[in-house]
Amino acid sequence: MRNPLLVNALEMLRRPGTQKVVSMSVAPALLDIDDARLLPGHEIEVDLLCESLSDGVVVDGAVRADFRGDCRRCLAPLTGTVTVDVHELYQVNLTDPDAFPIENDQIDLGAMVRESVLLDLPDAPVCRPDCAGLCPVCGIDRNEARCSCVTASPDPRWAGLEAIRDQLPE
Ligand SMILES: [Zn+2]
Ligand SMILES: [Zn+2]
Repeated sequence: MRNPLLVNALEMLRRPGTQKVVSMSVAPALLDIDDARLLPGHEIEVDLLCESLSDGVVVDGAVRADFRGDCRRCLAPLTGTVTVDVHELYQVNLTDPDAFPIENDQIDLGAMVRESVLLDLPDAPVCRPDCAGLCPVCGIDRNEARCSCVTASPDPRWAGLEAIRDQLPE
């Protein structure tokens, strides 16, 4: 499959300061991404500005992907969107250890987008920041109901009082 995020940098490198906007939606499969966390049927949105220097190209912008998952506290299914800010450098002669290579006068934004998305998809999302989760004893959803389970470990001082009370005559 052709990588839609392959950008020809030849002309750009000849004239430093040349800008190229790359704005598109890409099917994950085209970027060789097969990840169960991605929301099926949704494309990855790419909004990038490429600007050439004398010896490379700076890429700035954002990449967005919709994800799905189960809340790590209450296990409810959830969906969300990650937005990854992108600031990357592509170089013909790699002098920056963090730079991506320019090969055959081309910039492969696909590899960078793929890396950014996979790094930022959440492994353990929460449905909302204040999700109360499930009761570890009875499993009730504490967002919707209350239970009277004792989940804190018993206070040893109370245990001592209980022992004394057991010894008292009725
Ligand atoms: Zn939750
Ligand atoms: Zn409970």
